[in-house]
Amino acid sequence: PKISKEVEEEMIRRSAAMEQNDTSDLRKVSRHVYLQKRRDRKLSELRDDIIDHEYLFEGVKLTEAEEREFMYKKKIYELAKDHVENLDDIDEYRMPEAYDQDGGVNQEKRFAAAMQRYRDSAVGDKMNPFAEQEAWEEHQIGKATLKFGSKGKKQVTDDYQYVFEDRIDFIKESVMDRIQYEDALGGEIPEDAAAKSALQKLKEERKTLPIYPHREELLQAIEQYQVIVIVGETGSGKTTQIPQYLHEAGYSKQGTIGCTQPRRVAAMSVAARVSHEMGVKLGHEVGYSIRFEDCTSEKTVLKYMTDGMLLREFLGEPDLASYSVLMVDEAHERTLSTDILFGLLKDISRFRKDLKLLISSATLDAVKFSDYFDSAPIFKIPGRRFPVDIYFTKALEADYIDAAIVTVLQIHVMQPPGDILVFLTGQEEIETVDEILKHRTRGLGTKIAELIICPIYANLPTELQAKIFKPTPKGARKVVLATNIAETSLTIDGIKYVVDPGYCKIKSYNPRTGMESLLISPISKASAMQRAGRSGRTGPGKCFRLYTAYTYHHDLEDNTVPEIQRTNLANVVLTLKSLGIDDLVNFDFMDPPPSEALLKAVELLFVLSALNIRGELTNVGRRMAEFPLDPMLSKMIIASDQYKCSDEVISIAAMLSVGNSIFYRPKDKQVHADNARLNFHTGNVGDHIALLNVYNSWKETNFSTQWCYENYIQVRSMKRARDVRDQLEGLLERVEIELSSNPNDLDAVKKAITAGFFHHSARLQKDGAYKTVKNPQTVYIHPSSGLAEVHPRWVIYHELVLTTKEYMRQITELKPDWLVEIAPHYYQLKD
Ligand code: ADP
Ligand code: MG
Repeated sequence: PKISKEVEEEMIRRSAAMEQNDTSDLRKVSRHVYLQKRRDRKLSELRDDIIDHEYLFEGVKLTEAEEREFMYKKKIYELAKDHVENLDDIDEYRMPEAYDQDGGVNQEKRFAAAMQRYRDSAVGDKMNPFAEQEAWEEHQIGKATLKFGSKGKKQVTDDYQYVFEDRIDFIKESVMDRIQYEDALGGEIPEDAAAKSALQKLKEERKTLPIYPHREELLQAIEQYQVIVIVGETGSGKTTQIPQYLHEAGYSKQGTIGCTQPRRVAAMSVAARVSHEMGVKLGHEVGYSIRFEDCTSEKTVLKYMTDGMLLREFLGEPDLASYSVLMVDEAHERTLSTDILFGLLKDISRFRKDLKLLISSATLDAVKFSDYFDSAPIFKIPGRRFPVDIYFTKALEADYIDAAIVTVLQIHVMQPPGDILVFLTGQEEIETVDEILKHRTRGLGTKIAELIICPIYANLPTELQAKIFKPTPKGARKVVLATNIAETSLTIDGIKYVVDPGYCKIKSYNPRTGMESLLISPISKASAMQRAGRSGRTGPGKCFRLYTAYTYHHDLEDNTVPEIQRTNLANVVLTLKSLGIDDLVNFDFMDPPPSEALLKAVELLFVLSALNIRGELTNVGRRMAEFPLDPMLSKMIIASDQYKCSDEVISIAAMLSVGNSIFYRPKDKQVHADNARLNFHTGNVGDHIALLNVYNSWKETNFSTQWCYENYIQVRSMKRARDVRDQLEGLLERVEIELSSNPNDLDAVKKAITAGFFHHSARLQKDGAYKTVKNPQTVYIHPSSGLAEVHPRWVIYHELVLTTKEYMRQITELKPDWLVEIAPHYYQLKD
């Protein structure tokens, strides 16, 4: 194949666009993730071609030309597959090669070189189907490094050649930038612990926490004031101890002691820990409540819950009369729900003088909280933090995943004992790093000490979550691969080294388009400081930042923007309206959301008929608020009543709510997995119905695990979907919808979906792309969709995700007259 004119033009266009763009944007997406995604996509396109070919031409005699083309594709596929599978072994990332005389990068020369490489590889023997994209990406990365210089020279040592083929050079930041610290308070160290019972040991451990010496003082302050802001270093004992102190002091006699957490995992894990410390069964005296999972009972006096759950409890109990104390923990995270809780709690604290309110935070931002709560006193728990040395990379690392892996191995081989904590952005990255680390350490055999790898993220099964807290055996080293959850929510003892790539996943919302996406973005300086601090809890620590000092000082924001400023507010508005709060504009927000976003939310609720023209909650809206779901999903369920298919629709809602973790594709069996998946799509029914088919087939096998294995379906996700479905079924009764089924009328189901998602409609364009109907925008069908090849004229999508393109995920074909039938107020004026 020759490089086509279009490709060349496209590359020139892209490069021109790159010239104009701020390079800082580029650093938002890791090159690695980028590469892998694009490779995967190309690979699957090729593979599909080959499968099609084998399938269509089975037993048919091909012409020579056809045969040749087929062989050629197959060869490329084999080569490419190898290439991708060996990605783990690649520890060299090509950096800009064309320098000008002063050592700077000459962009034109570099781009020309990249183009040349592309041409060479396209005509050469070793076909490289990724060359075009690589050339472009190389160009991009080159641009990003332009400002920061390129990677240092490689160093090779004999013994650990494998590890150090790709070595990262760090420079230590001057003492000035070190974290301020206080000397360790002399806590009592329990002696002869082994002789005591586990419970006794835990009791003694509690006394060594930094908060313990301040127990009485704190209890006095709480007695004296209604609202207190509590600030203390992560790990000082705020979350696990304060609720216990309150219980011991008798507050639980007047009502439940509630403690909110921004994250599900934290709520579960902390509740488990506290129940251990108190020697009771989880779910009895100590319990937790998270969406779709209530682990509490009549007995429960200490209740950990997500902030979102407490928000929902307002619906049933607007004065929260069953609580005597509420602790809003991790307030510095400023999640959407926490921010709204602030407003509601501030309000009820005025007429419920007996309710104690504790706002606890890990950062010194406390003055803001104090100001908001009418100058509430601030209680500081003196920190116990050892000095932390901070290291930056000398040059910008193009691939933080790779850099993190190399750094971990470097620490493991060169640094004294102590566990490592690596911050990654999500499950996918954690699994990648886990796999590569295993692969690489295996290669080193007994040359190095054992490295115990512990992942932790939201969807990790509970049994595995406990693993991160297990003490490390002598002679081994533990490396914890965590999401942001380890920044302040969970404390893991024994961490001495922190590896901080400087990224996290952030939800961002564009009120103009109504689009929400998760983006991998640089963290704030405040987060970077918190992360570094995790290494200095039990002794002096070291933090390796995989970015330059320049980046830290010049490119990172001081603080993370509160979620309320960057999210879709439809759920919030619905909740507030159903609590009788109509005047949203004057609601006491700590940082009010942009009025545009509020308006957009009200507009959405109006078109979903949840609000009337006067902005009041309608009967539909009131029923929608009963569901702990996105308003569009709730509307879909309410509408299913009319189409007599609530049974099917709650299954679909449940499947959608477990996210995109239903199907899996093991590396060596991707073709099988894809074929299994396609079975559920027979008749091009669309992704929603395919999900329904999966659920129903599983149900027919009596929820068999074996069946899941055979069909490349994740059992865990299915079980979760079943739980969610059970709860939705329970809620149907509350909104007076009968469970009805209409298995032969798929159009009825599709109409119910349309009733919730009609403003997520898109229309096919001549070029095969789609245009969204409202706020016209070009989007594409996600390659994982069953309709990816079908290209229906009209579709409805569940969500948009931005990866390499703007993709629609989970789509179903739509008849345009449904839009007019179902949402005449919205589509009347359209063609
Ligand atoms: P803070 O809320 O101030 O950050 P915590 O109360 O979460 O502090 O933690 C206090 C101590 O309890 C820490 O030393 C931590 O190691 C321990 N801890 C907390 N959760 C767990 C758990 N799930 N398993 C084992 N130890 C835990
Ligand atoms: Mg805490």
